[in-house]
Amino acid sequence: MSAVGSAALRPPVAPSPARHDWTREEVLALLDLPFTELVFRAAAVHREHFDPTEVQISTLLSVKTGGCPEDCAYCPQSSRYHTEVDATKLMSTEDVVARARQARDAGASRFCMGAAWRSPKDRDIPKVAAMIREVKALGLETCATLGMLTDTQAQALKAAGLDYYNHNIDTAPEYYGEIIHTRTFQDRLDTLEHVRDAGLKTCCGGIVGMGETREQRAGFLQALATLPAHPDSVPINRLVPVAGTLLADTPELDPFEFVRTIAVARILMPRSMVRLSAGRESMSDELQALCFTAGANSIFYGDKLLTTGNPDTEHDRRLFERLGLQPMHVQVGAPATDPGCGEDCQCVATAHAAITGAATHAAA
Ligand code: SF4
Repeated sequence: MSAVGSAALRPPVAPSPARHDWTREEVLALLDLPFTELVFRAAAVHREHFDPTEVQISTLLSVKTGGCPEDCAYCPQSSRYHTEVDATKLMSTEDVVARARQARDAGASRFCMGAAWRSPKDRDIPKVAAMIREVKALGLETCATLGMLTDTQAQALKAAGLDYYNHNIDTAPEYYGEIIHTRTFQDRLDTLEHVRDAGLKTCCGGIVGMGETREQRAGFLQALATLPAHPDSVPINRLVPVAGTLLADTPELDPFEFVRTIAVARILMPRSMVRLSAGRESMSDELQALCFTAGANSIFYGDKLLTTGNPDTEHDRRLFERLGLQPMHVQVGAPATDPGCGEDCQCVATAHAAITGAATHAAA
C-alpha cells in the first residue's frame, strides 16, 4: 500500500487515552457485546493507534526444550507429563545466531528465545546474555522467556541488550490454581515487576480455551489491563491440546469467542501489540483475517512455535498478500508502542521483501 493510502486509513482524531482502571463488569460487558459491534469498536481503537494494514512479525526459537519441573497443565515441556517432547540442553550461541539470521532473512523483526526453565540459574545468565548480544548485533529486536527472574537477573539481561521479556499470567487469577500448582499468580506478578524495574519492555498474555468461562476470560483480560503498565506485547494463545498433558481432551473454544478475546484485548490495551501466538496453525485464514480486523497486529512467524507447529512462511506470505497486509516497520531501539519511525531502513525493507517477495535495496 502506498504511503498516502496507508495514512488515509488513520482518521485524524486524538487517540483515546489508555486506562488502567477497568472493572470486571466493564470487561465482561465488552465481551458480551453483539459480535459485529464489538469488532467494530475494536477496529476503531486499532486505527487510532496503528496502521491496520501493518502486522509486526516475531520468530520464536526454543533454545532449551523440555525437562521443565513446573506442572503447567497445557505444556508438553513439563517433565511431569509423558509427551513426545525430548529434553535438550541449552543450544550453543553459534546455533542460535544462525537461526536468528535465518529468521531475519525470512522477515522477522523480533527474535524470541525461549528456555523451559522454572527460572534460570545465575550461571545460565552469561550464556543467555551472549546470545542476546549477538542476536541484537544482527539488527533484530530481542526477546527472552526463561521463567521467573530475580531483579539482578533482569538487570543483567537488560545490560546485555535485551529489549523484551516474556512472562505470561496465563489465565484469570481465580482460574490460575486449576492450571498451575508449582508457582503462584503473585510469583508471576513479581517477575513482571522485576522486568519493568530493569527497564525491559514486557510481553505478557496467556492462553484461552483451557476450560475457563467467559467471566474468567474477562478476569484474565482485566488482570492484564490493570497491570501497573500495559504489556508492550500481549500474546493471546489458543490452547493447542497436546496428548499426554492434562488438557489433552479439552474441547475447542468457539472461534468467535477467540475473536472476542482479541477484540477486547485491543480495546483495553490500545497501544499494545496484540499477538496471535500458539494455536494459529489450526486457525483458518478466515479466522485469522477476523482477528486482524478485530485488532490483532502481531504474529509469530516460522515453522515451529516452541514445541507446537506454526503456519509455514510461504502460507503466511500468501495470506498477507491476499489480505493486503504488510510487515510492520520496527526500528530496533524504538519505543514498542511507536508504530513506525518513517525511515526506509534495512529492517523494514528486508522484512517487506521477505514477506511480499518484493525487491529490496538492503544488504543482509
Ligand atoms: S509453560 Fe514454561 S514453566 Fe510451564 S511447564 Fe512449560 S516450560 Fe515449564
